[in-house]
Amino acid sequence: MADLETRYVFVTGGVASSLGKGVIAASLAKLLQSRGYSVTIQKLDPYLNIDPGTLNPYEHGECYVTDDGAETDLDLGHYERFLNVPTSQDNNVTTGRIYRNVINKERKGEYLGKTVQIIPHITDEIKRNIMLMGTRHKFDVVITEIGGTVGDIESLPFIEAVRQLKWELGYRAMFIHLTLVPYLSASHELKTKPTQHSVKALLENGIQPDVLVLRSEHDLSVDLRKKVARFCNVEPDAVVQSVDVKSIYEVPIKMMEQHLDEIAMRKLQLPMKHEADMGDWISFLEKQKNASEKVNIALVGKYIELPDAYKSIIEALNHAATYNNKKLSLNLVHSESVTEENVAEKLKDADGIIVAPGFGQRGIEGKIVAVKYARENDVPFMGICLGMQMSVVEFARNVLGFNMANSSEMDHSTPYPVIDLMENQKNITNMGGTMRLGAYGCKIKKGTKAYEAYGKELVKERHRHRYEFNSKYITDYENAGMIASGTNPDTGLVEIVEIPSLKWFVSCQFHPEYSSTVLKPHPLFMAFVKASIDNSSN
Ligand code: GLN
Repeated sequence: MADLETRYVFVTGGVASSLGKGVIAASLAKLLQSRGYSVTIQKLDPYLNIDPGTLNPYEHGECYVTDDGAETDLDLGHYERFLNVPTSQDNNVTTGRIYRNVINKERKGEYLGKTVQIIPHITDEIKRNIMLMGTRHKFDVVITEIGGTVGDIESLPFIEAVRQLKWELGYRAMFIHLTLVPYLSASHELKTKPTQHSVKALLENGIQPDVLVLRSEHDLSVDLRKKVARFCNVEPDAVVQSVDVKSIYEVPIKMMEQHLDEIAMRKLQLPMKHEADMGDWISFLEKQKNASEKVNIALVGKYIELPDAYKSIIEALNHAATYNNKKLSLNLVHSESVTEENVAEKLKDADGIIVAPGFGQRGIEGKIVAVKYARENDVPFMGICLGMQMSVVEFARNVLGFNMANSSEMDHSTPYPVIDLMENQKNITNMGGTMRLGAYGCKIKKGTKAYEAYGKELVKERHRHRYEFNSKYITDYENAGMIASGTNPDTGLVEIVEIPSLKWFVSCQFHPEYSSTVLKPHPLFMAFVKASIDNSSN
């Protein structure tokens, strides 16, 4: 919308972590978007890593990759799945990046000999990064989620920066604070004291929340909400409840029922454009609710103890199952536990099998065994990134007879490096330096399963990997029945392989899961799930 001065919403959390600030931020964003505003969501992460790219998934769940190749927090995945609008490097800012920028400026002499301090230099850099979403990206509304919990030492500079911004922006900025209302089952009571304390902690930092979202396992009475409003200087209708729901995609509707969008528009003095149009969203939810028959998918990976490590894959499967009118029944299979002896038992119920992305040696032999099972038993199969690479290795070993074939990531001296570093990458050792990150074009060969899925010749998909299909072997593969159905139009790198003689065996070097959204399920996941359903009814 032209000429609208950007509005800023800051979302903080209190009492406990993991209350779902990202989902509340995404829900409000969705509602405002459905009223005709352009909206984006930004995440400020209080840790010192420059980005989550080097973080172990056990610590932080999946690393989400944007079109412009930023390795970001998994919350950005929620933002895109809700809004259907791409995010970028600017949508995720860590303390590490803020400090790096400030220190670089200091080294260049940009502070003209001044003592560089947290206030104003760090806070100014934080403010600049928040305002960029309005000035550079021109969104009408920017919702900035501040990671961590109020009171944490780490998030103090962020809190201070947004306090200052509120002062500068006036009605163009507002605060939403998300807290927990615990239920004590022994006394059958819901407790508001933690919320009161958490708002006090915010007030000590100079921030008065405009809206409180109370996360709870149970419905909160009007009286309880009035009490919270009175203690916390918040208008009674601006105390909103967020009761646990089956699917996070219901949250926008729950927020709409309580007029969270209207409250925000009132506080931000945003003119009413039109009513919220959530029709498509609601039909997705209905489909999800009405689907009773299951489609059984096995996901083979090494991080299954923490399903957040596969967040986008699981969501992409959910979207695809819903649009195929089925309920997803997901079996997470630990790749380290899969052997030739037990694979049939472990995967016998699977209508379709996915072998997950990953880095390093651990669990790869189990992945190879799972690929072999899928190929030999013609179970619909999708390999993603490392999963694709393992399907290439499996084919080399068991079909081409390339003994000890491997990816050179796992075995430097393999006689058949069917997955390898490209020549121009070989001298770069800096971690991350050689990664192919972000969206690249892919040209799809007509008449293939991939083409059938996409229905077009040129697509763009996001990457996050170092190793590539070694094109030296392509003729061996194609002669033996595994073809390259997608290649990079500029470099010729192989992006998709498939086995045309099987029902559905498609592996991709990129990560289709990052770009599946609620209103736009990903074509490869749609086709894979459809093939899995057809397989189960045979
Ligand atoms: N480890 C593999 C590579 O670097 C695959 C990475 C991935 O699955 N994201 O190429």
